[in-house]
Amino acid sequence: MIQRYDLIIVGGSFAGLACARTAALRGLKVAVVDGKPEPGARVRTTGIVVKEASDDFDLPARLMRKVRGVRLYAPNDRSLDLSAPGYFFQATDTAGVLRWMAGEAERAGATLLYDTKFETAVEHERGVALTSLGLHAGFLIGADGARSRVAENLGLARNTQFLAGLEIECEPLADLDPRFLHCFADSRIAPGYIAWAVPGVDNTQIGVAARRPARPDLGELLLRLKSVCDIRGIKVITRRSGLIPSGGTLNHLGTNRVMLIGDAAGMVSPLTGGGIHTALHFGRRAAQLVSDYLGDRGPHPVGVLQREAPRYRTKRVLRKILDTAPSNALINAFLMTSPVKALAQRLYFHSRSGSVDSFEAWSKEFERGELQKTSPQLRGPTLRLI
Ligand SMILES: Cc1cc2nc3c(=O)[nH]c(=O)nc-3n(C[C@H](O)[C@H](O)[C@H](O)COP(=O)(O)OP(=O)(O)OC[C@H]3O[C@@H](n4cnc5c(N)ncnc54)[C@H](O)[C@@H]3O)c2cc1C
Repeated sequence: MIQRYDLIIVGGSFAGLACARTAALRGLKVAVVDGKPEPGARVRTTGIVVKEASDDFDLPARLMRKVRGVRLYAPNDRSLDLSAPGYFFQATDTAGVLRWMAGEAERAGATLLYDTKFETAVEHERGVALTSLGLHAGFLIGADGARSRVAENLGLARNTQFLAGLEIECEPLADLDPRFLHCFADSRIAPGYIAWAVPGVDNTQIGVAARRPARPDLGELLLRLKSVCDIRGIKVITRRSGLIPSGGTLNHLGTNRVMLIGDAAGMVSPLTGGGIHTALHFGRRAAQLVSDYLGDRGPHPVGVLQREAPRYRTKRVLRKILDTAPSNALINAFLMTSPVKALAQRLYFHSRSGSVDSFEAWSKEFERGELQKTSPQLRGPTLRLI
């Protein structure tokens, strides 16, 4: 018996689950298909969420930890502290966030089919048949990551440029300053990208990425980290690796009844490698467009998404420069200069200007716990009987 859905989404991660929840809330009959045994299994990402994403998309604070500053290290160990009042990054319990998102999608009415791998489908005028899975969709969305099988099988455009990322998750390193994302610009360790150490949610995440075909060097990073904090007795909990598309949004996001979103669509900043915010945002947007199209004769979703998706023009130019993996001597010479500091501030904090004094002041208050103790200033609702 064929199970029929209005919308089937391949991939139950950030993009797919955001899409499923909104589509189900809008009344579509939705199924999510994912090869993993359960939501949050085999996480491949560091999972840092930028402030814009947590503003745009309500995620539970209990699964996140705010990190307010960035400490950027040159190969010669000089470092630069960056921050912007009012801005923060959120380290996440990523598996927890994905489980929570899956629960929300299910509560909205979506059917979640984990342990179900997509292999082939046939598109026709009024939908897509996934015969081997016994499923049929009015519309199919590929949210199945950097190496999308949906794109491959249905002959859509595909990502061709990648960063390769490698990360270990360890028990918390007590010595690592928890106020900062520690980022290392070093072409020996991370040619074409950076390495990082993140004081996360009950852990420390240490990772590195490089522009393929170069390989990231985790061993060198650990040696390097010794000059920043004590890593003797480091206890590794898990390892992960994955590809990050770095060529920008694809030029053709779909066909008549199929559309790509998230990493499958290349919606990742070619410069920073951040893709969670766009996955959430365009996951939800895709659901709105498909529901308008199927239910209300709205415009075709592919054309609208193609127009709205980020093109990353400047970031693609900067990516080309980073792809040359500038020498460490060059990084040492330029990283601490005012123009490069200004560029780093702009990239990390999206044009917000920094103020070292105020960061030190409020980060001290935060350490004392004063900000946490401050009670909300909002008064409760007043009910009046008329
Ligand atoms: C090492 C690393 C670190 C990163 N760090 C960050 C960061 O800190 N912040 C940030 O914003 N971004 C980061 N990124 C990028 C970010 O992880 C992605 O942009 C984001 O996860 C994209 O979400 P998505 O839902 O599009 O795809 P994914 O998260 O890749 O999910 C794809 C889903 O599709 C499923 N799937 C794949 N193939 C099939 C199939 N054939 N059948 C069924 N299911 C399938 C997979 O199981 C998976 O659940 C990082 C990436 C890597 C590799």
